[in-house]
Formats: sequence, C-alpha cells, structure tokens
Amino acid sequence: MAGSLPKALQRIGLDVRVITPAWPGVMKKVEEAGHKTVELPQRVRVSYAWSVREAAVIHTDVDGVPVYFLRSEDYGGDMYPPVLNFQSVRPFAIFSLQALELHTTSGWEPDIYHCHDWTSAFLPCALAWHRHYRHKNAKCIITLHNVAHQGVFPPDSFLDESGLEPWAFDMERLEFHGQINLLKGAIVAADAVTTVSPRYAQEIQTYESTQELSGIIFRQRHKLHGILNGIDTDFWNPETDPLLPANYSIQKPDGKVECRNALLKEAELPASSPGPVVVCVSRLVEQKGFSLILPALQHFPSLGARFIFLGSGHAWIENALQHASDQNPAVLRFFRGYNEPLSHLLYAGGDIFLMPSVFEPCGLSQMIAMRYGTVPVVREVGGLRDTVFDVDNPEGGNGFTFLTCDTSGMMWALRRAVTRFSKTALWKKIVKRDMQENFTWDKSALLYEKLYREMASVPNK
Ligand code: ADP
Repeated sequence: MAGSLPKALQRIGLDVRVITPAWPGVMKKVEEAGHKTVELPQRVRVSYAWSVREAAVIHTDVDGVPVYFLRSEDYGGDMYPPVLNFQSVRPFAIFSLQALELHTTSGWEPDIYHCHDWTSAFLPCALAWHRHYRHKNAKCIITLHNVAHQGVFPPDSFLDESGLEPWAFDMERLEFHGQINLLKGAIVAADAVTTVSPRYAQEIQTYESTQELSGIIFRQRHKLHGILNGIDTDFWNPETDPLLPANYSIQKPDGKVECRNALLKEAELPASSPGPVVVCVSRLVEQKGFSLILPALQHFPSLGARFIFLGSGHAWIENALQHASDQNPAVLRFFRGYNEPLSHLLYAGGDIFLMPSVFEPCGLSQMIAMRYGTVPVVREVGGLRDTVFDVDNPEGGNGFTFLTCDTSGMMWALRRAVTRFSKTALWKKIVKRDMQENFTWDKSALLYEKLYREMASVPNK
C-alpha cells in the first residue's frame, strides 16, 4: 500500500511523500533497482530515553514519489521482533518521533500523517499524549491492515522513556489488560481510522479475529472507514509480465495455455490429464484457511483436478502439504518457500485460485489471480467478500464463494468450480470477466483524498 497508493494520490495532485526506516533489505532493493539516493546534510534528532537519538535521512525518488529513508543505529536490524517489550518496540517509537521531526531536516512538513499498523502506531499516540508532541498541530490517520497484530507488551519503563504522559496508560487509551497496546492507542488517538476493505471494517467491530479489540473499534466507529486496497496493475500485468514464459491478454489469451504447460512441467504433474489446475499462493498460517484445506487433502485426488501450492509458514502446515505431495505425486505438488517469480507462474498457469481464509482484511492474491484469468474460490469474508462474487448469483459473478468456515463449505465451492471448468464457453466468460475487473488504486485514491480533505477542514485542536 505504501508503494502503490502514493503514486495514485500523486496522479490526482496531492503532495504525498513516504517516510520509512532504512532497513538493510529494503536499501539493497533500492540500490538494485538503480534509484539514485542522496543523504541530506543534516540529521534528524529526537529525545528518547533521556538521550538524543539521531537518524540520517536518505532521500530518493521512486516512480516520482519522494521517499525519505531514516537510518539510525537505534533501529537495530529486526523488522519483525519475535518478542515485544519496551526495548524491542523502542526502534518503532523512535522512528515515529523522528518522522514528526523530519521537517527540521527536509524542510517539508505534512498536514496529515498517514500511519500503517502497530509499527507506526506510536505516532498518533505521541500527537495525543506525548509531553512535547501533543502540542503539535497535525492530523493523523491510522490504517489497520490486520487487527490480529496490535503491538502489545508489558509497560515496564515505556511511558517514562518514550515521553508519554502517565495518564495515557488508562483503559480508554493505551492500557489493555495491564499491558500497552499501541494499536488500541492509535485507534483512540487518530483523527481517522481506515481498514483495507469495507467488509472488514464491519467485521472488526464484532469479530473474534480482533483479539478483543472489537469493543474499542466499535466505540470509535464514527471515524472508521473501509477503503478497499488495489493492486499495482502495471506490475501485475499478464500482458507485459517479464517473469512469464508467454504473455497474454483478454484479446490474445493463448499465452495462458503456454504458462499452464510450463507450470505443470515445473510441478512435474501430468500435462495431459483433463480437469483444471488449482493453485494456491499463500502464507501458511491459520488465517489463510489451512484448517479447512488440510482435512480436505485426502479428497483432492478424487476431484478430477491437479493442485499446486506455494507457500511458507508454520511447520505443521508445510509438513502436511509435503506429505500430501509425496503421497499423490500425480495430483498435488507443494513448493515450499517464498518465491516471487514462481508465484507469477502459478497465477498465470492456474485455472482456479484457492483462498478459503478464516478472516481476510483485504487480500491481494484473489485480485492478482483474477487479473491473470485464474478464477478464485474463496470464503465470503472481509475483502474477499468485497471482491469475489459467486457466478451462481442471479446477477452473475467472477468466482465461487462459500460462507461457512468449514471443509465441507470449501469443498462445495471447489466442486462447483471444477465441474464448471468443463463447460468451456461458460468458463471462458468467467475468465474474461475476471480479467476485466478494475483493481487499480485509482478508485481508492479518490476516497482517501476525500477523507484527507475532510480531516484537513476540521480545525486543529
Ligand atoms: P497477506 O498480506 O495476508 O499475506 P495478501 O493476499 O494480501 O495476503 O497478499 C499476499 C501477497 O504475498 C501476494 O502478493 C502473494 O502473491 C504474496 N505471497 C504470499 N506467499 C508467497 C510465496 N510463498 N511466494 C511468493 N509470493 C507470496
């Protein structure tokens, strides 16, 4: 989102810039992509834990969008700390304060800070409850990408060292069962809260995947907006995708057959069998519906389809898929790991994309699959419900959906998809509709612009 939305916002005339830590892996990619970087002459300084914390500011331009990478010894190297406590959260809090001070170095000061997830959730908290920054005139918005991750940790000396007022640790603010909950704090403190699909915005007011945050979200619903994410349709484009053995489009669909053959070859599955190729590219975690998929693996050989999984995650899911792959080498193949080039081949070479998520804030994979003419089979939840509509609806649709969160529900939808695949003319119609769907960021950018303008029109506190 931080890569694609700014480009779309800039196209409609907003001055939008990205501020992000200079994580080594990210900087390597910046260098590989050949972006020219310039280190600003002055460093940005903040006070944290009774000492001055400095960050170098590296400025670059990505597709016309200015990006400020902040590099500091205080960040350490771990983008995903395995354990959260006041020390492992410190880099994210320092970064947030440095973002608020960036104007002292860059000369550019935003009217609105748009933060994402718990890792930048300290920024709205600071604007509301920090001894110094609560007097700053700025608006902020927090986007909840996945409420399952909240930034919860024991308070220890966090309030003291971060500069938050002691009264911020209160059940109407940061406190959460005796712990600090940064996402909760940000939801309370921010001027607006968005999630990545309209349906998820409704679900998180009641749904158990929020891990007890639904009450607070419900109380803050007056400032909650569900705005669907888009995908970068320049990058995810079967017509130009350089990672595919053949390109194709709605007008010239033949290349998809070549991709399918290449995928089957790569997966060492028989190319000649009838029936569709069902693919799944996913993190292997419970959220993505593997508690529905794993019990179904034994029934897959009788379905008349071939199955290809690509993913990494929990060992128990990896092992189960590997076992099924070993047991049914003519039907199922599991590719373990995170492999972006291979994912393109799965999206392009598959006929059906399986995504039976237990909960799904937005989901990009089903949109990518549709853009590549691979028909999604999904559970009606979160962003999947906002983007995939069952072909058996009276008004028609672009995929196959089911509601109940169990294996039989999923198998019912999957069987319908497999059966429909043999009706070639009908199937072609569904594929065409999928490839015609508009998943660009443009619509969402207009909604964000409207929201920013509404926020800006409210007088500062
Ligand atoms: P989430 O962000 O919850 O994992 P999304 O559907 O929003 O799910 O986005 C997942 C993105 O990550 C997609 O672009 C998908 O292609 C990619 N992805 C997931 N697993 C893999 C993998 N093993 N290899 C390559 N890409 C992957």
